[in-house]
Amino acid sequence: MKAIEIKNLYKDYKNFSLKNINLEIDKGTVMGLIGENGAGKTTIIKSILGLVNYKGSIKILGEDLSKEIKEGIGVVLNEGFFTETLKIKDIEKVLSSAYKNWDKNYFYDLIKEFKIPENTKYKEFSTGNKMKLKIAIALAPHPKFLILDEPTSGLDPVIRDEILDIFFDFIKNEDATILFSTHITSDLEKIADYITFISEGEIIFSKSKEELLYNYGILRTSEEEIKEYDPKFIIKRKNNTYNIDALIENKEEFLRIYPDALVDRPTIEEIMILFERGK
Ligand code: ATP
Repeated sequence: MKAIEIKNLYKDYKNFSLKNINLEIDKGTVMGLIGENGAGKTTIIKSILGLVNYKGSIKILGEDLSKEIKEGIGVVLNEGFFTETLKIKDIEKVLSSAYKNWDKNYFYDLIKEFKIPENTKYKEFSTGNKMKLKIAIALAPHPKFLILDEPTSGLDPVIRDEILDIFFDFIKNEDATILFSTHITSDLEKIADYITFISEGEIIFSKSKEELLYNYGILRTSEEEIKEYDPKFIIKRKNNTYNIDALIENKEEFLRIYPDALVDRPTIEEIMILFERGK
């Protein structure tokens, strides 16, 4: 069963368009959405959640978005949040009436587990605690599906690691699905099963992380040497001061033909940068 099936999604803003987005996410997997600022990640997430109008079809667990479906999704968005003077108990009261499946005990368990201060006003929370609170709220109604827009951005590595641990706990349930957008590609290396890369409103690729890291390589070469390689393997190249980095595909076949070539295993960040900035 697909957690999400997006077909022919188009969305036009004045100076930006999502163009023919087709994307599937299997239930029980973690999908990371990457792309530079303004690539369209938030617009895709808002389309899924019915927060913007769009053209195309989006099915969640095989159905159109409905109130019931929405209640089964834990959501973390970037947007502003609580009245600044509220404390945890005030926030909990507001939310308990807003969510049908709200689990007060579980919410307080999460607050304790995430070490969120209970007697501090929201405005005095650190950025990390604000994000952990948003995640606790998303988790408290026991969703099977989490959709998070940049849950780790602006946070230090220790808090990011804590947040990834929260996600690891969540996906212990084999039905649990996560879709999250990020610029922090190293987080994806830790947790994502699949990665979708968006650039200027279009999907460049949507692949399993293993396939991505296995299929692509970074060829370290030079202006003279690069001419010796079959261009069918070379997707992008970037000239550095003393050498050229080229993104190649079908790495195994390439290495069979050119066993002496210097090819490194890429990071997701290198793949993204070469796609964006390479020629
Ligand atoms: P970031 O990583 O910076 O959050 P993103 O990949 O999430 O970027 P979006 O927020 O989806 O990108 O924005 C994509 C483009 O759409 C941007 O150029 C943005 O300015 C534009 N955009 C977003 N919302 C609106 C709106 N309500 N009206 C007009 N343009 C918009």
